[in-house]
Amino acid sequence: MSLDVMSGEGGGDGSGEGKGVTMRVEVDVPKCVASGQCVMIAPDVFDQREEDGIVVLLDEQPAPELHADVRESAVVCPAAAIRVVEK
Ligand code: SF4
Repeated sequence: MSLDVMSGEGGGDGSGEGKGVTMRVEVDVPKCVASGQCVMIAPDVFDQREEDGIVVLLDEQPAPELHADVRESAVVCPAAAIRVVEK
């Protein structure tokens, strides 16, 4: 039997993510220009509406391993529609 523990330690790529850092993601939907950048970078967190490509936030509080991708999405978003709050 194995214990299903999400240890995540010792991954080895040296990105010293803080422990217990909470990320909260907000999208300003009216600003979105449907470029899809965020969806390409962080598909677990962002999706696009079928009809017009406008962003859909899938995960308001993404897991730590997704934080780097979410930050990058916010940086590359051409409409600056993604806001990331970290505590
Ligand atoms: S990157 Fe920005 S503009 Fe493009 S789909 Fe995502 S939120 Fe919308």
